[in-house]
Amino acid sequence: MNVLRMKQCIKCYAENDDHVAICRACNSTKFIMEKESSMRCPACGAENEEGHDMCYSCGHRLDR
Ligand SMILES: [Zn+2]
Ligand SMILES: [Zn+2]
Repeated sequence: MNVLRMKQCIKCYAENDDHVAICRACNSTKFIMEKESSMRCPACGAENEEGHDMCYSCGHRLDR
């Protein structure tokens, strides 16, 4: 599966390539992280299926 990874600027919502560090439209450095069907645990980095309240791996609470 070949998925084109894009990320969206949190300020102006411009789409930027996943590898860029600065928005090409407004120079913001913050991006909305696309989470299609999984959520990454902020504590251990494990991928959890969406809908889980706690990380299956370490039990860390997952915010949505
Ligand atoms: Zn922007
Ligand atoms: Zn975890």
